[in-house]
Amino acid sequence: MIRISGDDAFAVADRIVELKSGERICDLPGYTVRYGHVVHHGKVLDEALFLILRRPASYTAEDTVEIHTHGSRLSMRETLAAAVDAGARPAMPGEFTKRAFLNGRLDLSQAEAVMDLINAQNEYALSASVEQLSGGLSRRIREVRAGMLNHLARIEAALDDPENYTLDGYAEELSEYLKETKAELNQLARSFQEGKILKEGIRTVILGKPNVGKSSLMNLLVGEQKAIVTDIAGTTRDVLEEQILLGGLGLRLIDTAGIRDAEDVVEKAGVERAMEAAKKADLILFVVDASLPLDENDEEILRMIRGRKALVLLNKSDLPPVVTKEDLQTRTGERILSISALREEGMDQVAEAVRDMFDLGEVNYNDQVVITNIRHKKALEEAAASLELVENAVRDGLPEDFYTIDLTAAYEALGEILGESLEEDIINEIFDRFCMGK
Ligand code: GDP
Repeated sequence: MIRISGDDAFAVADRIVELKSGERICDLPGYTVRYGHVVHHGKVLDEALFLILRRPASYTAEDTVEIHTHGSRLSMRETLAAAVDAGARPAMPGEFTKRAFLNGRLDLSQAEAVMDLINAQNEYALSASVEQLSGGLSRRIREVRAGMLNHLARIEAALDDPENYTLDGYAEELSEYLKETKAELNQLARSFQEGKILKEGIRTVILGKPNVGKSSLMNLLVGEQKAIVTDIAGTTRDVLEEQILLGGLGLRLIDTAGIRDAEDVVEKAGVERAMEAAKKADLILFVVDASLPLDENDEEILRMIRGRKALVLLNKSDLPPVVTKEDLQTRTGERILSISALREEGMDQVAEAVRDMFDLGEVNYNDQVVITNIRHKKALEEAAASLELVENAVRDGLPEDFYTIDLTAAYEALGEILGESLEEDIINEIFDRFCMGK
């Protein structure tokens, strides 16, 4: 699909389009579809459907013609070239969405959600983007800002017109309001971690002492998903990441390849390095060899993962069991599953358990507003910090006009999430990250 948007969109299109009906695009009403040909210098380039959208009822809120071609590269290229020859210019990356924003069709957080939608890597990320796109975050921020404006107006009114408006007893009410609002903003800011998980995949480390079957499991998990696996070279040469989809969730499996190298030196060193990797993990898959008694390495890992999001996998279930589920259950509060990496058994249960942990966990991604954007996190924290300054001023009994400065700062910080007080270059930077044609 080729999209032409702007004041001259119809005029440009009419220069390269011959509709079967003989009509001209500039004469047609919005929301019209016509069949015809793209013709340039007397040569028919393609047959296509033309969708006519009149401002403001289009994505960009400008006059727009969408040319739905057959999509062959050659005809697309020729049609684009013809449109440029007829007076259009190629869109910059993200320019359509940028125009939608500048024309007031989308606010900034919605525009960014479009980009996240394009980049969304798994179902959950998708639903978070959809929620943000439909304005979940914007709505919350607007509500909070409306409350701030209300207090600002009240203070200003009382300062300007003390005869009619009084602030008697107001400090208590304001303190209460500040406490609640600050908590809400901080909570939203904290949701960033989860938002990040949604977008980048859950950082998952497979942990276990040597020979329990970690690589076998890794290969199995990765191998089953070959079609969607991408290799991301880590920052260090001995760490490799594989992106997989498990139970509908994007996982970044961190292969602790270097740890195996350390085995020959001292077994213990390997375990320690694995633990180091596990510290940064969102999810730990702890593999135990069920055919051998637990040793002190297992015990040490067990102690270390206590209280973390971990799944204990009793591997080698095809061999006679020495360690049983019940044994482990009494020692850990973690979920325990029997698997056999060798026989490729138990993987469905692993997928299900991982999914459960994130479905039934503290966070319900589907209806909670989560932020997935570091800029939003900073703005929320800034606003919360400003509210704290107001709280301090109230507590220290400072005059009321001290309140308004920081309350205004909080209001403006939140405005940045909606793009209502952003400078042009910041806006440009955001839109430059978009793909072409979006
Ligand atoms: P790592 O050192 O933890 O990465 O373990 P590996 O994946 O290299 O496996 C160590 C050994 O255990 C290999 O010989 C595997 O074939 C074997 N192994 C792994 N998973 C299983 C399993 O489920 N059942 C059995 N019987 N052997 C397994």
